[in-house]
Amino acid sequence: MSRDDLRIDGQRLWNRIVALGEVGAITGPNGELGCARLALTDADREGRDLVVGWMRDLGLQVSIDAIGNVVATRAGTDPTAAAVMTGSHIDTVATGGRFDGNLGVLAGLEVIETLEQHGIATRRPISVAFFTDEEGARFAPDMLGSLVYVGGMAVEEALDVRAADDGARLGDELDRIGYVGPTPCPTAAAPAAYVELHIEQGPILEDEGVTIGVVEGVQGISWTELTIDGRSAHAGTTPMRLRRDPLYVAAEITTFVRRLTAEVGGNQVATVGRLDVRPNLVNVVPSTVTMNVDLRNTDESALQEAERRLADEVARLEAAEQVTIGRRSLARFEPVQFDPATVDLVEETARRLGHTTRRLPSGAGHDAQMLARVCPTAMIFTPSVNGLSHNIAEYTDPADVTAGANVLLQTVLRLSE
Ligand SMILES: [Zn+2]
Repeated sequence: MSRDDLRIDGQRLWNRIVALGEVGAITGPNGELGCARLALTDADREGRDLVVGWMRDLGLQVSIDAIGNVVATRAGTDPTAAAVMTGSHIDTVATGGRFDGNLGVLAGLEVIETLEQHGIATRRPISVAFFTDEEGARFAPDMLGSLVYVGGMAVEEALDVRAADDGARLGDELDRIGYVGPTPCPTAAAPAAYVELHIEQGPILEDEGVTIGVVEGVQGISWTELTIDGRSAHAGTTPMRLRRDPLYVAAEITTFVRRLTAEVGGNQVATVGRLDVRPNLVNVVPSTVTMNVDLRNTDESALQEAERRLADEVARLEAAEQVTIGRRSLARFEPVQFDPATVDLVEETARRLGHTTRRLPSGAGHDAQMLARVCPTAMIFTPSVNGLSHNIAEYTDPADVTAGANVLLQTVLRLSE
């Protein structure tokens, strides 16, 4: 069989997704099957043990590093060549699904099992990794394991992080579950390339009837908290011209950021998702409103433009409405652009396999954005039913799982030549 005709076994992959999903399984009101495997809990250990067992069954060389990242490698024919890496994470949020992260790791194993089954050798080694604490649900920040892997955070600092739930030290929990490994971290051997298969976690692919998302990068994020102080007053007796109404200002800002998305263009999105009104009474002009503005864009200069326009509008409203507005940055991450040649390869591969494709940015963070600091990186998205993720009802159709894994197989094959 020619390499181009090689395909993964969709049923075998699905069976592993189901089997891993049974570890930490949770059930929804309508029989949905979800997953709760918070990082470095007993359930995480059980999930890790299961996946590492599969890695060893495939004859892979398994390495565990100082922060508990697990990398399993199938040797290539060129002993000097750097590995092509794939993978993701197997930790979940407390009300998570069976696909987020798990798909990328298990599809990586399926790629290797397919090569083994057909006796296909590759020049470069192929590695499948799962990174510690991607979700950040228990230990902040998220993507912690891959961040440490690429040298973005010192191991000692990461080991000292405390759990949000029970205050446990990350290093102690890692030790408790038996996943402190001898391999140095950050890695001494950057991969030749990294390609991650992941569910979209959003509605775009399903909405447009597209099978494969070709991910161009990860959006930058800007969170600003605005505290608007006005003057509390009687709703019946205070003339409109004498009001200093912070909720009116908050409403103006809310509609402004919606208009802003059309003006800045591109992938700009803007959300006001939190509003705290005081005293929040039917017949009182409020005294204070606290609100959060979430701005995201794949283009850093466009994101800065959006931030600048928001700041101008806030200043204008502050003067015009005689309120005082406090500003505080809650989060700021620059966008990440994946490697154009690797992104092109994913797109060509998906089309060659007969799938519909769409280029899109990732709205969520992924381990791939950390790996992008050290090697050419790309991602493949498969559709999420109803756009749901971090939800017990998270689901991806078996046919889409198979399609995504085949695109991964053929992309990895090409990169490992
Ligand atoms: Zn994920």
